[in-house]
Order: sequence, then structure tokens, then C-alpha cells
Amino acid sequence: PVVTRFAPSPTGFLHIGGARTALFNWLWARHTGGRFLLRIEDTDRTRSTQAAIDAILDGMRWLGLDWDGEAVFQFARAARHAEVADQLLAQGRAYKCFATAEELEAMRAEQRARKLPLRYDGRWRDRDPAEAPAGAPYVVRLRAETEGETTLEDVVQGRVTVRNAELDDMVLLRSDGTPTYMLAVVVDDHDMGVTHVVRGDDHLNNAFRQLGIIRAMGWEEPVYGHVPLIHGPDGAKLSKRHGALGVEAYRDELGILPEALGNYLLRLGWGHGDEEILPRERAIEIFDLRDIGRSPARTDTKKLENLNGHYIRAADDARLTGLVAPFLAEMLGREATADERALLQRGMAVLKVRAKDLRELADGATFLFRARPLDIEPRAQALLEGAGATLLADAARALETADWTAEALDAAVRSVAEAAGVGLGKVAQPLRAALTGRTTSPGIFDVLLLLGRDESLARLADQLR
Ligand code: GLU
Repeated sequence: PVVTRFAPSPTGFLHIGGARTALFNWLWARHTGGRFLLRIEDTDRTRSTQAAIDAILDGMRWLGLDWDGEAVFQFARAARHAEVADQLLAQGRAYKCFATAEELEAMRAEQRARKLPLRYDGRWRDRDPAEAPAGAPYVVRLRAETEGETTLEDVVQGRVTVRNAELDDMVLLRSDGTPTYMLAVVVDDHDMGVTHVVRGDDHLNNAFRQLGIIRAMGWEEPVYGHVPLIHGPDGAKLSKRHGALGVEAYRDELGILPEALGNYLLRLGWGHGDEEILPRERAIEIFDLRDIGRSPARTDTKKLENLNGHYIRAADDARLTGLVAPFLAEMLGREATADERALLQRGMAVLKVRAKDLRELADGATFLFRARPLDIEPRAQALLEGAGATLLADAARALETADWTAEALDAAVRSVAEAAGVGLGKVAQPLRAALTGRTTSPGIFDVLLLLGRDESLARLADQLR
């Protein structure tokens, strides 16, 4: 059975590249009925933080990427990593290297001077450890293959080959006995039963080194899939310069729904025909690692907005009301009351129609909750001048006596338009301006119904003084 994993280093937020890697692994496990594991690679003790761990777990939960079993913490497994290094030593597949830091620096200086690649030259590979001074510190190095080449059949990159001469004898255990990243990853993947290693292609070079350890241990090799990193709209690797954000910023600042971000991330570098709208169930059904593209995908804000708009329209109104509330509170400078929330939910069907994110949705709803007299935007104010003022006065009079039903309101506004010999829109414009302070809003009859008779007439009166 398939076992995939996501192995983030908790040194920062869960960025979209990491989230996409997690998603691909999650989907492959769910598609195949396998398991998706989570490993926190917290071996860098100075850069790993609890806040980053929390942000990663929180982001994954928000995106619906549930992992099977308990998360594995890599640092806690250091003794096991050392055990494997000892085993390789015992089998002669690794050796102790007593070279001092100064010695290695001199070696590299000479390689630099001779314009040679910087590589450990194997000086302790065939030496007797007894030649080292008693108690001298040492590292454990893999006795790597020097002849031939290593080939990797990558599901994404295809066949990739390096000459073994290019890979030096890498360090497995440092002189303080702690494992290197290369060793830890290989041991953990093996012990966790990982069958598919899907990760960013910045790890492709590591894969060859990791294969060296796997082969030395005689372990089964996983299937690798090295996914091209996400690029910005300009084609350069995604970076802070592009405003690369953590997943929580998409949620808390941009107002993106998790299903929209998930769908967007899925389509960044993976495709199935021209299907764009891929809800989770559908994605699980058709996801295949072999459909991951070999060239880097570029971020596309428009696409994210379109997907988000789609999922907002599809979302349940009660849920949306809860999601919009914090954005609304920020804009109003106060929490909405229970009555206001009920109003928001009643209006949701018409408020959500055009919104591309929750922030915009909240912004479009604020008119419902503003105190009178409303602030009128300059462009809306212009609609209240001249002919607009006359039409507004006529409309206010007609509405005064109308029943507050969609049909009656429609008939009242229509009669004003007909009497003035103008289209309905000409009357709706000053009405909208007076009722919402804006030039755009839901349909004018929806606005009148949501505000109700008293509030509507009062807002009109405010502009007729
Ligand atoms: N911890 C590594 C990273 O965050 C991933 C290692 C791996 O997937 O093998 O880049």
C-alpha cells in the first residue's frame, strides 16, 4: 500500500509551496487508499520554533489535509539515526573520518585555487582509525560508490542520472554524534514505511545522496517525485519579493476559502485535461502523480480570485456568515450583534454573488450596518445631484405608500421611471447612492428589502433634506 509523507522544517509559516507539496502527498494517499504521514523535521534546533509547528499544523487542518497517526518529530529520533550510522560502520559501508576542521579548510582552499569542485577527498576512507590520536573527534562518513553512476526514475522528472564520482563521502554523523539531515531523512522514511517521496525539486540532488545510504543499508527504494517549485508571475522562483505568503495570510488577510486555495494549489503544476473546478472529492478521484507537470507553474492571482468567487457562491450561507464576521468587525470597528448577523445571513444570497474574497464580501455588506446619516462616497454623491435629486424625491414619495414586498417595490420604482420617461436604472442609481452610499450594491429591491421600510425611508429622507 502507498505511504506518503509531508516533512516540513518548522522554521517559518506554511507557505503555499509547502502546502501544495502536502496536498499532492495527501491526494496520492487518498486516491490510492494509502496513508499520509506527517514528519516535523525539527533537527535545526536554533531555527525550529513551536510557533512554526503550530502554524504548519493549523494550516494543514484548515486545508483539510488530515494526516494518519501521530506526527513524527525527527529530533526525537536522533538515537535511532546514530544506530543506523553504527550499523553502516560495522558493515564497512561507512568509516570514521578524523580530519580536523583546519585540515578540511586547507583541502578546500587548494581545491578552490585549482578550480576543482569542492569535495571531500576521501583521506580517511582507507586509513586505519588507529592512526588517529587517542580520543580525537571524528565524523562518520558514508563509503560512497566511486565508480559508475546512480540513476533515479523520477515520476515527475523522468530518468535522472549522476556520475558517482561527483558524490563525495558525505557525513552521516557529526563529531558530536548528531545525525545529518541526509541520514535522518533516509532512516525516518524507511522506518515510517514511506513508499513515495514527493517533494520540491530543490531536493533532487539530495535524492542521489539519500539513495547512496538506502542502497548501503539494502533498503527498498521509494518512488521519487520531485515537483518543480512554484514561480511568480514573472517566471522567477517564488519569493518574498512576490509577496509570498503563509497559508494563514490567505485565510486571515485575503479572505480565501480553504477549498478555493486547495483547488488553486492543485492546479499549480498539476492538471487533468482542462478541468479547473476540482472539489476535493473529484480531486481524490482523478489525482495521479504522473500528471504533475515538469515545468514550473506560475502564480495567477486572477485564477485564485475566480476559484474563490466560485466557492463563495457555492458555500453555505450560515458558514459564510461566520467566516465574514471577523472581516466585518474589523471594518465596522465593532462586533456585529446577533440581529445584525441574522440580517447578514439573510442577505448572504445576494451579497455573495460578485465577491471574489471574504474581505470584499464583508465590504459589500457594511452598508447594512452603518449608522445614519450615511457617509456617501463622492461618486455616489454625484448621482444625488441635479436630475438624480428629483428622481430620488419622486421615488421616496412612491415608496412611502408601497407595500414592502418585492413586487410592490418594483411597481413603485417602475411607475416613477415611467412618469419621468427614464429607464429603471436612472431611478435605481440615486436610490442606491442614498441607501448604501455607494455606486455598486446588490439589486436595488434586495437592498430595500434587507434594510426594511423604516431604515430605507429614513436613509432617503437624510438625502432629501
Ligand atoms: N524538511 C525538508 C524541507 O522542508 C523536506 C525534506 C523532504 O521532503 O525530504 O524542505
